[in-house]
Amino acid sequence: MYGAGDVRVENVPDARIIEPTDALLRVTRACICGSDLWPYKQMKPSETGSRMGHEFIGFIEDVGADVRTLKRGDLVIAPFAWSDGTCEFCRQGLHTSCLHGGWWGGADLDGGQGEAVRVPQADGTLFRIAVGADDPLMPSLLTLSDVMATAHHAALSARVAPGKIAAIVGDGAVGLCGVIAAKRLGAGQIIMLGRHPDRIALAKEFGATDIVSERGKEAVERVRELTGGLGAHSVLECVGLGESTFTALSIARPGGAVGRVGVPQEKLMPAAQPTFYKNITISGGPAPARAYIAELLPDVLGGRIEPGRVFDRVISLDEVPDGYRAMNEREAIKVMVKF
Ligand SMILES: [Zn+2]
Repeated sequence: MYGAGDVRVENVPDARIIEPTDALLRVTRACICGSDLWPYKQMKPSETGSRMGHEFIGFIEDVGADVRTLKRGDLVIAPFAWSDGTCEFCRQGLHTSCLHGGWWGGADLDGGQGEAVRVPQADGTLFRIAVGADDPLMPSLLTLSDVMATAHHAALSARVAPGKIAAIVGDGAVGLCGVIAAKRLGAGQIIMLGRHPDRIALAKEFGATDIVSERGKEAVERVRELTGGLGAHSVLECVGLGESTFTALSIARPGGAVGRVGVPQEKLMPAAQPTFYKNITISGGPAPARAYIAELLPDVLGGRIEPGRVFDRVISLDEVPDGYRAMNEREAIKVMVKF
């Protein structure tokens, strides 16, 4: 990406092993993320550009001398951050704060929206899956690299529990997976805030019990009506804008919790005083997807959850610029790149 709206498919030097803890991955599936749309909307023009893509699955082509658990030919999921799996924070399950980890792409590292990726800290980062590269479950497996794991993190951060009321702000792929996550954790009532008919239909199929299509104060009022005047126990904020954050904080009931996974686009958080007086817990951040794959994988393999249904378009690498356009214009919910 060279700037707002400027995505190009180019040849770059081949990815290769540099550190002995690296693996070289040949990408078979990748996707475009809602968070990729923030730079797509507002990135300043750059001469060097930024490698894109942080959600991918692929085959290991080669490993460095110190890689112990992976070998050539393994099919693996790459979570959206890389991590060593052994430091203080990885051991407590917070891999996105790894002391020796980092993020894909940018100017220096390969991104997943490309044919090959050098994977640092391969043993700690990659998660091997025992399926074929064209398994019908591949779309759902791909969501474990980010959106389904992120939605699970939102639900845990919002303390979703059996029989409780969960509300989800945002009808993108993460918000839709948030419905799955809330249902999976036993929420009794699941309120989806969204307006697009195709997304609402999918949310209902995933388990949403109520839809709120109003915005702003009207949305807050409508959620209040749907919750006996009290608000939701658990709110999943899956957008990151000031308005969506305000809505999320406003629909939580006293003593409730808000799990934030939308990347905040503003420096300050709204509603400091009302959330204070309502004793609302505000939690969340970048999901430690690596920590959640093992937990979510059996439900994907068993067909109990189908987060891969958020993909409504499949493209080739050459079509990636148009994939960004389609997602940015909300023509597509989520775009998969098939290599
Ligand atoms: Zn670590």
